[in-house]
Amino acid sequence: MRIGIFGGSFNPPHLGHINSAETACRSLGLDKVLLIPAGIPPHKRIASGSPEAGMRLELLKAASEGREWAECSDIEIKRPGASYTIDTIRELKSRMPDAQFVLLMGTDMIATFEQWKSFEEIISLVEIGAFARADKDEETIRKKLEELREKYGAKASVVKTQVLEISSTELRSLLGERKGREFFPDSEYSFIIKNRLYGARPDYDWLRAKAYAMLKPSRIPHVQGAEKAAEELALRWGEDIDEAKTAAILHDITKKLSLQEQLLICEKYDIMLNYLEKDSAKLLHPITGAAVSRGEFGVSDAVYSAIRWHTTGRPQMTKLEKVVYLADYIEPTRDFDGIDTIRKLAFEDMDEAVLYGLGLTAESLREKNDEIHPVSLAAAEYYSRLCRNRSGA
Ligand code: FE
Ligand code: FE
Repeated sequence: MRIGIFGGSFNPPHLGHINSAETACRSLGLDKVLLIPAGIPPHKRIASGSPEAGMRLELLKAASEGREWAECSDIEIKRPGASYTIDTIRELKSRMPDAQFVLLMGTDMIATFEQWKSFEEIISLVEIGAFARADKDEETIRKKLEELREKYGAKASVVKTQVLEISSTELRSLLGERKGREFFPDSEYSFIIKNRLYGARPDYDWLRAKAYAMLKPSRIPHVQGAEKAAEELALRWGEDIDEAKTAAILHDITKKLSLQEQLLICEKYDIMLNYLEKDSAKLLHPITGAAVSRGEFGVSDAVYSAIRWHTTGRPQMTKLEKVVYLADYIEPTRDFDGIDTIRKLAFEDMDEAVLYGLGLTAESLREKNDEIHPVSLAAAEYYSRLCRNRSGA
């Protein structure tokens, strides 16, 4: 077995790491590459606010998902104290005495290699594979390796690779600006968003693609319309536009699921249901939609509850809840008796508009002989009292 050892802080791991490791695997004839996040890197500090070592390991697993050559190892995380490479190599050697190990190193690592703890012992135990960018630092790296060979008898070779021209620091800040997803495998980007690591917020195109993939194609225009209406209402009423858009994009993601599938989601997220909800996919979709939005896309509590109440409404809705409830009602593809009234009301007085919407829903349920959800009745009572008191005052 020829095994690559690729360590680093991986904060976060990105396509540059994955592609480099894959190239090394191919060009050095490795059977696999061990990806090893440092518990405590000896040569640099982990930026504050970064995920803990265990989470960086999870990130690496997500990043290398489906790549057979990759194996993530917790060897440095489990070892107390600073993560010195020599200790890792000794431990791996004793676990796998017959394997040949190749230590993979980035361009910045090879430059400081002679300052590493017990570097001469490292050279005696493993081969070195040093990454180099063909057009940039290949010459420098070659010279450096030549020097290591002459001075210490190192067995070392260059791995030509395309290194990402972006630093981890830059990557971390891009994530907070809804950018940078092209630098990550999708499986890892999803994991980052789900757990909102590095203050990440989802790239809108990515979020839309994920949401639309969960919808019946015929529902996509409705959701696009709802996003537009939510943005306009948020602007009109001074609500957070990003939260409004996010809630609108996700509000119907479980709508096409069957009753059975919705009930399974409720079980998974430990959601209690009342007698009406148990039998109605229509009443379940805001409940499961909110749960999946939080579970898979890491949405805030405010967005969660805006999705949660978008169908029935409730008494004392937050501003964001009203924005999303109304956006769903008035978006451009909607057409029914009363649409002009509720569209107008939504921009004049959201409480009046919600009351009007609750009335329309109640009316259509009565026509179908369907029971009205108690929370909608309570909401109608609440908003009619509120609006009456206000006009009386
Ligand atoms: Fe809905
Ligand atoms: Fe909807």
